[in-house]
Amino acid sequence: MTDSFVYEALPMRVVFGAGSMARLPDEAERIGARRILVLSTPPQGGLAQQVATLLGERAVGVFDGARMHVPVETVAAVEAVAADLAVDGCVAAGGGSTIGLGKALALRRGLPVLALPTTYAGSEMTPIWGLTENARKRTGRAPVVLPRSVVYDPDLTMTLPAAVSVTSGLNAIAHAVEALYAPDGSPVVAAMAEQGVRDLATALPLIAGDPRDRAGRAAALRGAWLCGACLGATTMGLHHKLCHVLGGMLDLPHAETHAVMLPHVAAYNLQAVPAAAAALRRSLGVNDAAAGLAALTAGFDVPRSLRDLGVAESDLARVADEVLANPYTNPRPVNRPELAALLHAAWAGDAS
Ligand code: NAD
Repeated sequence: MTDSFVYEALPMRVVFGAGSMARLPDEAERIGARRILVLSTPPQGGLAQQVATLLGERAVGVFDGARMHVPVETVAAVEAVAADLAVDGCVAAGGGSTIGLGKALALRRGLPVLALPTTYAGSEMTPIWGLTENARKRTGRAPVVLPRSVVYDPDLTMTLPAAVSVTSGLNAIAHAVEALYAPDGSPVVAAMAEQGVRDLATALPLIAGDPRDRAGRAAALRGAWLCGACLGATTMGLHHKLCHVLGGMLDLPHAETHAVMLPHVAAYNLQAVPAAAAALRRSLGVNDAAAGLAALTAGFDVPRSLRDLGVAESDLARVADEVLANPYTNPRPVNRPELAALLHAAWAGDAS
């Protein structure tokens, strides 16, 4: 991977630090947005109002109806509001669901997005959009959806419950793990991945112990940024394919699904990619990367199996069918018996 590679830097701007939300008006000024719509989910409506107050006259409205997986009905509703108010930009204040809605506005109406992430999902670092119609999620890449500026303020993550923080952080680690063996990896991506995993692996136990641990929150958000940048820069493999199929087919929660699958897919793939395994050993400070990831996830009070997430054992065969039906990149070939064994271990929560 380091002998020959292509690396294309995405035009991203990051403003990081406790209290950095106060810099949003300056970031709006930089991109020339004067009529901003602030987006959030319903539970984060209070944050959206706070952002609108901070932006003053630049904020012309708040839309707090963002929902998981960006349903096209929600996009139609926000587009109508944006047209009514002659909006020329938006601030997406929240997790991947809210940032996804901002990206849909960018895709459909070319509006620039400022992101204020409050989870560790990493969508703000990628040009990947998603839209759900008739229970099917379509995804694609388009440079226009990449936020023009991302303001990372760890203070906004203090309210993220411990269990959600842990699963969201493991979701981020999964981006970095797959970036380390991606066909389009590079030394830059590998460095980001190694540091991102180190930051999150240090921070998540601190946050699980005390969700208001300031140093832990800052380290976790820094790790989420780096892991998100890895996701934006590379092509993901079996882990993300499996989570996409499981989420779409069985309507499973996004971050929890990633958290359950991470140690199982890592155990499967890492034996085929020694350099990735070595990077993770350094990040985690362990002698065995797959065992280290399994130990990290086992230390938290979060769902540990697909069974815990409500999956029936009889669902596993059609999940395998769909994963095998569409080709995708992966460092270790995937055949049916091995995939069935992996899925079964993840279903039962067995050590891989
Ligand atoms: P989410 O955005 O759905 O947030 C989960 C819940 O937590 C929501 O109710 C939200 O309001 C609440 N919440 C968020 N931050 C909070 C905070 N700081 N305090 C209290 N509550 C808070 O969840 P997510 O895991 O961030 O995002 C998942 C979605 O993002 C999925 O649809 C996934 O497909 C998408 N995603 C997309 C990309 C991409 O590159 N396009 C990358 C990662 C995730």
